[in-house]
This record gives sequence, C-alpha cells and structure tokens, in this order.
Amino acid sequence: MSFNDDAQLDSGRIRDSRGRGRGGKIAAGGGGIIVVLLAALLGVNPDMLTQLGLGGDPGIEQGANENGPAGITECQTGADANARTDCRILATTQSLDSFWLSYLPQYDVQVQQPGVEVFDGQVSTECGTATSAVGPFYCPADQVAYFDTGFFADLSTNYGSDGGALAEEYVVAHEYGHHIQNTIGTLAASQQGAKGATSGSVRVELQADCFAGMWAAHAANTKDAEGNTFMEPFTEADLRSALSAASAVGDDRIQEAATGRVNPEGWTHGSSAQRQSWFLQGYATGDINQCDTLSARDLDKPGG
Ligand SMILES: [Zn+2]
Repeated sequence: MSFNDDAQLDSGRIRDSRGRGRGGKIAAGGGGIIVVLLAALLGVNPDMLTQLGLGGDPGIEQGANENGPAGITECQTGADANARTDCRILATTQSLDSFWLSYLPQYDVQVQQPGVEVFDGQVSTECGTATSAVGPFYCPADQVAYFDTGFFADLSTNYGSDGGALAEEYVVAHEYGHHIQNTIGTLAASQQGAKGATSGSVRVELQADCFAGMWAAHAANTKDAEGNTFMEPFTEADLRSALSAASAVGDDRIQEAATGRVNPEGWTHGSSAQRQSWFLQGYATGDINQCDTLSARDLDKPGG
C-alpha cells in the first residue's frame, strides 16, 4: 500500500457531511457537475441548478444511519489511509497540501489550501446542489473539492483492491489541481475558445492531470507535521493504477453521465491517451512549467 503506516493524519483537515443531506428530494441523473462547473464559470444563478437538477424523482427519506460509515475522526494514521477510502482522501489531501504549499512559493505564488468535503447523498455548495451521481468535483466559488465516498467504492470495485489506491489518489490530486488552477488563474480558460479537442476546457482538464502527475512525482517527499513521510515511493503497479484512472474516471465519467443533458460536445476532456500522457508528463518532470497545456501546440505530445 502506498501510505507509511505511521504517518499522522489530521482529521480536522476535511469536512465530513456524510449522513446529512439525505432528507427531502435527491435529484436524479447525471449532468449535475457539468451544470455546476458551467454555472460557476459562467456566473449562472445557482438557483437554476435546482431546476436543472432534474427533480421529479420521489424524495428519499432517510434518517441518520447509526450503523453507517464511521466518521473521518477515526482516521488517525497512514495505516488507516491504507485501509479506508475516506482516510485515504484525507491523507492524500494532506500530502497534496505538503507538496503544493511548499512548491508554489518559489514562483511567488501564495496558495491557500482548498476545502475538502466528503459527502453522500447530496451536498449543498456555493456552486449549487450536487448529488452523488455527479462524481468528484471542485467548486471554484467556495474553493472546496467534494468527494462522494460511494464513488470511490465503485472505483475500487472496478479496479480491484490492489490497483485501486493510487487510482483514488489520482482523483483527489486531479480535483486539487483545479484548485491550483483557480489560484494561478488558468481555470478560467475553460470558458475560452471554441468547443472540441483543442478547447480551453480540454486544456484545463489535461493540466489538472499534469498537476496530479507532479504531485505523484513529489509525493514520496511530502511530510506530516511531525516530519514522517506520507507516502512510500510508487511502484510500477501503482502507476498503472493511476493511469487506468486517468483514462477511465474523473471528468470523463462525468461527461458520460451528462451526455444529452448539457451541451456535451462542448465538454470533451481529452482522449484517454492524452490524459495518461499529461499525467506522465507531470510525473516525469515534476515541473509546473512542463504542464503548460494552455499554449501547447500538440496536446498529443506533451513537451513536444
Ligand atoms: Zn477535472
């Protein structure tokens, strides 16, 4: 597994809203995140999201589940992160904090750590209400990355327990990458340019993949508050796991869920090969200057 067992976690770092937000109506269908992101970037009134949020489904009434998933406060060490998805989201977040907050100041960029929230059912954000159907997403308006732990359960089922860890960490690192983009100003490019394969939105997604690769390159050097390293060096198998996720999940999944609802042709996210290539570009170089997807002439050839 990829976390050092004695790395110390800070359970106060992320918000855990699981077991809440289950009353009332849960919007059906996918597409929410595309709407959310579009709305946030284009300044649409979030109230619109509720209308687009596809009501009509019977409300699902559920009380707090006392036998439900144990809370994030039980995440104490790297061993917990190796055993549990929610703890892995926390540990990955802390490793990302350690990397990005020490990396960016050399470029005179001060970055605040993003909020991170794990939820189930549905969640209210400053970008509107989102449901579990939408997958992981980052809301620029409140600067919080949201993760539905049920999504990660799917991921684990699809990828198997051996290969799943870095796949999950990649997803967290990708969403964190959108926060870095929000900080340095490149996230706005997702609303620029024509639709299609070389559009701003594709370039933004591929840059987030490259940033995820950068973190992976430096992850073995990230440290907790007591100086313990968070991660063990990645193995080939770990890397394959991340690449499989880069090609198969994240925004691609979201786009698929949204097909037919919100202008999907305007929201291609790069081919599987491109996503893997840019993750590897970040991993091989560990250098933010090598992740300039916005001005890359050929998105098939990072660094070319
Ligand atoms: Zn993305």
